[in-house]
Amino acid sequence: QAKQEGRNGYRFYTRSLTEKANRRLEMEAGLRRALDLREFVLHYQPLISLTGGRVEGVEALVRWQPPGREIISPYHFIPLAEETGLIVALGDWVLQEACTQMKSWLDLGLRLDKVAVNLSAQQFRLSYLQERIRDILSESGLPPCRLELELTETTIMARGDEAGIQMAALKDQGVHLSIDDFGTGYSSLAYLRRFPLDKLKIDQSFVRDIPHDEGAAEITSTIIAMAKNLKLSVLAEGVETPEQLDFLTGRGCDSCQGFFFSRPLAADDFRHWMDRAAGP
Ligand code: C2E
Ligand code: MG
Ligand code: MG
Ligand code: MG
Repeated sequence: QAKQEGRNGYRFYTRSLTEKANRRLEMEAGLRRALDLREFVLHYQPLISLTGGRVEGVEALVRWQPPGREIISPYHFIPLAEETGLIVALGDWVLQEACTQMKSWLDLGLRLDKVAVNLSAQQFRLSYLQERIRDILSESGLPPCRLELELTETTIMARGDEAGIQMAALKDQGVHLSIDDFGTGYSSLAYLRRFPLDKLKIDQSFVRDIPHDEGAAEITSTIIAMAKNLKLSVLAEGVETPEQLDFLTGRGCDSCQGFFFSRPLAADDFRHWMDRAAGP
């Protein structure tokens, strides 16, 4: 059979391309339907302060839960949502849901400073972003200082000078800003220092290989030291082992996030986790 296809290679090629395109179309239609049917859920992962070990906040992470099927990771649908522009509607829902959830947790007495929400490049580009964030905050009743928006280096660099204007507008409202996956986007801290940032999140690809890998250890230490020079708070993503935690504590990292503390949890599970973390 393979031989037959080989002779007429172009047919094989066409067919697999068509299959790919069909699968993409199916997935895109599925995403649209999922938005209408509210098949998305947020999971929440605690952010742990290394000075005192308290939970300082939580990151909201979206998942797709088609009924009766396995939950789908954002790695599998965020890229398509971005290509198709659906990310704007999805991201809007994520912001509303995360702010509403955070507000109800605060009302219940949970001690959390902030909810962090990932913002995609297309959302960051919206001219009405500032107004939209303000409306979502006022509708949910969440004070602006309780919201942190995570941007990537690429998102910021793609906007050039306008990035600074957009960020200043958000900061003026009292919202916090952080850089996600720092170290992967080829921007320099010298470049980033002109933006009104609060926090750097060191990408997990570096954290994964500390303390044993010299390169990773060197980069991580340097990012922490430079963040401190720039008076930015610094968080390490993807902390899984006590050795990583020791290393980061020793270097003066401010906070951590990772499976060592908790995986991202459904809202109810997170509330129970918080009850246990707070102790009896
Ligand atoms: P991210 O914002 O860098 O989120 C951290 C990712 O690392 C999460 O993956 C989290 O589950 C995972 N993680 C946390 N601790 C550990 C650990 O100790 N070890 C390992 N191996 N992984 C850890 P998740 O939830 O699959 O999200 C993947 C990415 O999808 C996010 O990376 C973010 O870029 C994107 N994403 C998630 N939710 C949203 C959203 O609402 N909007 C947008 N635009 N992007 C989102
Ligand atoms: Mg993030
Ligand atoms: Mg990250
Ligand atoms: Mg990441």
